[in-house]
Amino acid sequence: MSLTGAGRVAGVIGWPIAHSLSPLLHGYWLREYGVDGALVPLAVRRQDFARVVIGLRLAGFAGVNVTVPHKEAAFALADACDAAARAAGAANLLIFHADGQVEGRNTDAAGLRENLRQELGETLKGSTAILLGAGGAARGAVLALADQGVKRVHILNRHADRARALAAALQAMVACQLIPGALADWATTAPEAALLVNATSAGMNGKNDLELPLTLLPREAVVCDLVYNPLETGLLRDAKALGNRTIDGLGMLMHQAAPSFEAFFQVRPQVTSGLRAALQQALKHA
Ligand code: NDP
Repeated sequence: MSLTGAGRVAGVIGWPIAHSLSPLLHGYWLREYGVDGALVPLAVRRQDFARVVIGLRLAGFAGVNVTVPHKEAAFALADACDAAARAAGAANLLIFHADGQVEGRNTDAAGLRENLRQELGETLKGSTAILLGAGGAARGAVLALADQGVKRVHILNRHADRARALAAALQAMVACQLIPGALADWATTAPEAALLVNATSAGMNGKNDLELPLTLLPREAVVCDLVYNPLETGLLRDAKALGNRTIDGLGMLMHQAAPSFEAFFQVRPQVTSGLRAALQQALKHA
């Protein structure tokens, strides 16, 4: 990192924040592109979020990345938000403009879309996908799948009412058909799926994996997990063992960070194998 008095400074706000990979990710790109700037981790309690954002804007920060538990508060606080943030009801990026306006964006959907495009090209056009989960990540995933030309998305969630609410909220925004259901609908939906996306937090370090019989999926179906810690979840390990192609959560993480870096530091960064290796190394010690 090289930082002078003229450097651009941004932050990442969460509670807790020590586990965040954002400083490492942005730090890698700052070095790679020789940018005079820094991304500072900021541990901020829920009740202090709005005041801290005002302070950072006044202090000349270019903006902040926002993580748990502040994404909804960031959306509510922004003067204007992009369509992805409106769909999610949450913003993970706040950009502080020179005229005082705070712009909210959600880059999760674009992150998954870019990752799927890089991994699978245009092969999802007209296909059926199963999306597990109905939280914030699932909302972004619906937009990403629609952008990739998926025709039908079965949204299966532990609490089926949340899947129904998500489908009702997003159906008007996307061209694909959203079909909500429960995890018990796996048996009837799995055989027609070209893609399975896990957007639940099951499988994260310390949490059990979902127990779904993957044998019901076609062998040519791709299995994508948004969880990136651990990088190889039980779901991905089982899918690999059966011969299905897998995509881990690190690709989405890197791609969702690129628009933030560009907004803060005015360089469009590349997602490279070197960056991936640096993050993998950090995850080993997480
Ligand atoms: P939320 O808390 O908003 O949603 C959690 C979802 O997981 C809900 O659908 C919940 O179901 C479901 N769930 C939790 N535990 C279980 C369980 N034991 N069995 C079945 N379902 C369960 O979380 P997010 O949507 O924000 O995040 C989900 C995951 O996506 C996290 O692991 C996160 O790290 C990852 N993520 C990865 C990103 C990346 O860049 N790779 C970006 C964003 C998120 P219910 O509604 O029934 O409670």
